[in-house]
Amino acid sequence: MNRVHNFSAGPAILPVEVLEKATEGLLEYQNKGRSIAEMSHRSAEYEAIDQQAKTRLTELLGLGDDFEIMFLQGGASSQFMMTPYNFLREDQTADYIDTGRWSNKAIKEAKLFGNVHRPYSSSDTGYDRVPGDDELELSANPVYVHFTSNNTVAGTQFATDPETNGVPLVCDASSDFLSKPIDVSKYGIIYAGAQKNVGPAGVTIVIIRKDFLAQADTENVPTILQYQTHAEKIFNTPPVFNVYMVNLVLEWIQEKGGLSYFKKYNQEKAALVYDEIDRDDFYRGAVQKDSRSLMNVTFRLPSEELEQQFLEEAEKIDLYTLKGHRSVGGIRASIYNACPRESVETLVNFMADFRSNNG
Ligand code: PMP
Repeated sequence: MNRVHNFSAGPAILPVEVLEKATEGLLEYQNKGRSIAEMSHRSAEYEAIDQQAKTRLTELLGLGDDFEIMFLQGGASSQFMMTPYNFLREDQTADYIDTGRWSNKAIKEAKLFGNVHRPYSSSDTGYDRVPGDDELELSANPVYVHFTSNNTVAGTQFATDPETNGVPLVCDASSDFLSKPIDVSKYGIIYAGAQKNVGPAGVTIVIIRKDFLAQADTENVPTILQYQTHAEKIFNTPPVFNVYMVNLVLEWIQEKGGLSYFKKYNQEKAALVYDEIDRDDFYRGAVQKDSRSLMNVTFRLPSEELEQQFLEEAEKIDLYTLKGHRSVGGIRASIYNACPRESVETLVNFMADFRSNNG
């Protein structure tokens, strides 16, 4: 099998060891004469997977007993609606830090439920940065402060958790979940679609602080959209095969050395590409240096024609899906946890050659 160098923004590359194990689980799980995708979600086998995945998340993030973990469907996009549905009442305000396309989609949904205040927006400069703590102009009494920890489209990322002086953070961590340690004590909710850093598309991981969950509306929200419903038990059929795969990815993360291992690994990989971008003026980073993402490295070439040529030549040597998001253009290399250093090195060598040939 010839696996290509896969820089897809999502669904993204998965560790080959995980894919190999998952193939076994798909044919026959633990000598049970059937696969995990063919078993009841109430079976002892699936319940063990659900529990193991939750234990691994608790260990990796250091959650202690303070958080509920749930595996939901509907993507991060459903969380844009579910969070305000549960927590934001008509007369209340939630603060939403506006750092790009996904923040905006979250804001649009929140406005259906209550007031939205933007403590910061980088829209005027094309979302080329994220704010420092001293730039956040929080409202008087927000229910929560929502932010997108990594902006998949622009290629910016918060290097540290925003300071909110005790107001719970709600974080769309879809594109940097489990890529580095975070200070969980600041968070009310962390949610992430699995398809970038932790598994195949189809399951959304939601982690909620129990004392924050206690404030959720349990009267006016349909049962399946209440977080409380999913905190109490596995309410309806979860995407069993996806959770099984997430559990394998979590095992892989633990075996590699956990979140501090990946923080360093991801910093090193990203530095290789950014150093190549900064070598001279041929490549131009698409965002400000202090806001650069370690997950989605975005850059431009001197012309759109050269960008097209870059993509075509890259694919000839198996460097795949480097095209920037359709809304911004340019080049985007998504180098999540599972993207091997070898792929990044191959990309950087190609960038150097392409510059020599066309610069
Ligand atoms: N938030 C972020 C930061 C994303 O990158 C994406 C997907 N690219 C989404 C939300 C939307 O996720 P989904 O398609 O799973 O709803």
